[in-house]
Amino acid sequence: MQNSENIAAPETSRQSDLDTTSAKLNPALEFFLNEIGERKEIAQLLVQRRTPGADDFEFRHLEDEKRAESELETVLLDQAQFYLSFNDQGAFRPIKGAPDMRHGWRLLAKNAHELELALQAVYPGLIADYYAVHQMDPIPVTSYDEFAGRQTGMYRNAKNLKGDRAAQAVQTACGPSFCMKRRYWTVPGLDTDSAEVKSEVPCLEPCAVMLEWGRKVVRMDQIADKCVESGAEPMTWTLTPDEAKSLQAAIDIARKQTDPAGRTADVASPLNPRRLEWVSQTLNHLLEKGAMRE
Ligand code: SF4
Repeated sequence: MQNSENIAAPETSRQSDLDTTSAKLNPALEFFLNEIGERKEIAQLLVQRRTPGADDFEFRHLEDEKRAESELETVLLDQAQFYLSFNDQGAFRPIKGAPDMRHGWRLLAKNAHELELALQAVYPGLIADYYAVHQMDPIPVTSYDEFAGRQTGMYRNAKNLKGDRAAQAVQTACGPSFCMKRRYWTVPGLDTDSAEVKSEVPCLEPCAVMLEWGRKVVRMDQIADKCVESGAEPMTWTLTPDEAKSLQAAIDIARKQTDPAGRTADVASPLNPRRLEWVSQTLNHLLEKGAMRE
C-alpha cells in the first residue's frame, strides 16, 4: 500500500538531522506555498505566516486560533509526527485525516522546507496530493476495485468486496465522522466527496484502515455464508420498530465511549466505531424502508 494514511510510526529523527535549507523547492511545495497567502485553513489545521510575505509559519489547531501563544505547547518539528499521533484523550490516531486532532499545541516552521516537514507530520502526503488534484489532468486516482485487486497477502481478500456491500463499507469507513479527507477515488454506487462535507485534504486511494475494514466486511459475509452452508440455524431476528430504536440508542451511547477496545483501527472489536456505524446504517436502512414504521 502507498496511501499516506498508513499507520504512523513514532518519529525518531533528531532536529539536527533534518536538512531544511539546502534543497531546491519542488513544484508541489512551491504551489502550496502560493496557496497559503497569509493564512490557510485546511481541515482542522490553521497555517499562518508570522511575518507578512515571509516564509516563517505557525501551525496550530484551527479551534485554537484565538488562544494566546502562552497557552499552547510549542512542539518541535522532529517531535510533531509522534505528538499528533494521539488525540486529546491520549488514544492513538491510526489516520491523520480523522477529525480528532489534539488541541493545545503550536508548531513553528521557519522556512519552506520546514513547512513541508510540518505538513508531512500533520497531514502526510498533503503537498503532493494537493498539487495532483489542482494541477494534474486527469487527477491520478485509483478506484477501490483497482486498488484492492493489486493487494496480496493479508489484504488480498479485500478484492472480494463488491456491489452494495462495497458502497456501504466505503461510506462507513470514510464518512465525515471518521475522516476529513476528501475521497476522490471511486467505488460503484457511491458519489465521491465534496470539499464542503469533508475538507481540501485529498484522498487519492484507499488507506490501510479502509482496506482493513473492507477485508473485515468480506469476512463477516463469509462467516454468515458458512453458517448457512453448515446447516446451522440462521441468525435472523424480525425487529419491531421499538426494538430497532432501542438498538440505535444503545449504539449512540457506545459511540461516545472512549474504551480502547473500540479503537478505530481494531475492526476485530465489536465496539469498533466503524462496526457500530455499520449496524446503525443497517438499522436506519430498515427503518427508512418503511417495513418497521409504527
Ligand atoms: S480511504 Fe477513507 S478513511 Fe482512509 S484516508 Fe481516505 S477518506 Fe480517509
